[in-house]
Amino acid sequence: MRTFDVAVIGGGINGCGIARDAAGRGYSVFLAEQNDLGSGTSAWSTKLIHGGLRYLEHYEFRLVREALTEREVLWSIAPHIVRPLRFVLPLHSGLRPAWLLRLGLFLYDHLGGRKRLPATRRVDLTGPIGAPLKPEFRRGFEYSDARVDDTRLVVLNARDASAKGAEIAVRTRVISAGRAGDLWHIVQRDLASGREETVAARFLVNAAGPWVDRVIQGPLGQSEARHVRLVQGSHIVVRKLYDHDRAFIFQNADGRIIFAIPYANDTTLVGTTDRDFTGNPADAVITEEETDYLLRAASEYFAQPLRREDIVWSFSGVRPLFDDKASKAQEATRDYVLRTEGVDGQAPVLNVFGGKITTYRKLAEDALAEIGRRLGPRGGPWTGAAPLPGGDFAVDAVDGVEDRLAHAAPCLALSTVRRMVAAYGTDALRIAERLGEDLGHGLHEGELRWMMMHEWARTAEDVLWRRSKLGLAFSADDTAGLAARMSTLRDQAGELAAAG
Ligand SMILES: Cc1cc2nc3c(=O)[nH]c(=O)nc-3n(C[C@H](O)[C@H](O)[C@H](O)COP(=O)(O)OP(=O)(O)OC[C@H]3O[C@@H](n4cnc5c(N)ncnc54)[C@H](O)[C@@H]3O)c2cc1C
Repeated sequence: MRTFDVAVIGGGINGCGIARDAAGRGYSVFLAEQNDLGSGTSAWSTKLIHGGLRYLEHYEFRLVREALTEREVLWSIAPHIVRPLRFVLPLHSGLRPAWLLRLGLFLYDHLGGRKRLPATRRVDLTGPIGAPLKPEFRRGFEYSDARVDDTRLVVLNARDASAKGAEIAVRTRVISAGRAGDLWHIVQRDLASGREETVAARFLVNAAGPWVDRVIQGPLGQSEARHVRLVQGSHIVVRKLYDHDRAFIFQNADGRIIFAIPYANDTTLVGTTDRDFTGNPADAVITEEETDYLLRAASEYFAQPLRREDIVWSFSGVRPLFDDKASKAQEATRDYVLRTEGVDGQAPVLNVFGGKITTYRKLAEDALAEIGRRLGPRGGPWTGAAPLPGGDFAVDAVDGVEDRLAHAAPCLALSTVRRMVAAYGTDALRIAERLGEDLGHGLHEGELRWMMMHEWARTAEDVLWRRSKLGLAFSADDTAGLAARMSTLRDQAGELAAAG
């Protein structure tokens, strides 16, 4: 039986972040993901690296400070997939007064060691920035946060973990895990072949996101597990609502806020909702009520009301929040809680509850401190200064990387150059060495091969909705063609492997 120091259940941002950190410190690591990497909650976020202005109202100063600090750290290690974003907050008569917002934004600017991101300023909404809004919104504030390609952040952490020796198994479900003295025996099933394998590990991490309690009750066989509060959040993607590059944050009469953010393929992302959820998180879909809520809330601000016909895509995810018994879903803490079980001499398991994409790296460092306590420490924190794959360039050098790619591959449209640099950073230059045929919408065979060989992409959905958002451009016929091409490439790779 193969034995690892650390086994991780779950290939979302937290599982992959922990695997990367642990592998980089020299532990042997195994990670099992039952579906595609980043296909759980990590795919369905608002895609912000943010402190969470709203959490200040719940006095979550520690969480906000840590998250604010992480913005510039993550930007510096992944300047391709993390980009600064300015948020415009219009003043709304009858809702939070200007002095309160100014105070909140003052704290937001100063709590978290902001160095490069520009500071808050007042903004006149009678000019171009406010042009898409109703004329009564005349004044507001503009502040900084950042955006991220959430699913690519997961994949890049997995790639780096793998480069440092971790074994990453996708479409592999952990079906049972039992203690054998100071080891775990973990049975996992390859869902494609049905083959089962038992591996041993000295430390088990349960990073199953919204499935964390299910893993505790199922594979881990414990009867009591009610630690997470499942809170559904949905987004709609509508045709592009305005031309400038700012995002809007709108306050609503119910005390909640929603965002409108410029998004891929000439669209605007609008979200999110907060409602308690029961059932299997994989089944979450946006409800009629949520769609109405988002359309109504955005139409309160935009001069052109949003209509159902404007919606081109929608998605829904389930937050695995630590259950702090808050009365409203929107008030439940967004902070993470790590709990290790297993007395001395017993193999330990660390269960991960809650968290945000923004704080995944700090969460991983905290998990590694716990692993070090039980297995013996190996090295200190390192992930804050080590670029993720393709992110080995300065935050202000994105244009330079785009120029190099455009020069290396003059056949690429500017939009494709930008998309590829935003996805792969300097690795786009390696992909451009063997671009091959254009399979449509700027996706070349070389890029497809890269996703299949280096990023664990197995299906057209992996390629179109998680490694990229080209799904917004591909038709059903295009998708069928892509699936056929992937099958051919797989056969060719199989033949090559068989030929030795
Ligand atoms: C609507 C919404 C908006 C959000 N917006 C933001 C935001 O803007 N910024 C931010 O920082 N955070 C945001 N978040 C929070 C963030 O998305 C989550 O905290 C984070 O993605 C959780 O990651 P995870 O790795 O814990 O869980 P997941 O991504 O769900 O990963 C868990 C994985 O475990 C796998 N798994 C489960 N059981 C097994 C098993 N038995 N064997 C193998 N694998 C298994 C699942 O398939 C899944 O892929 C948002 C969340 C939601 C829902």
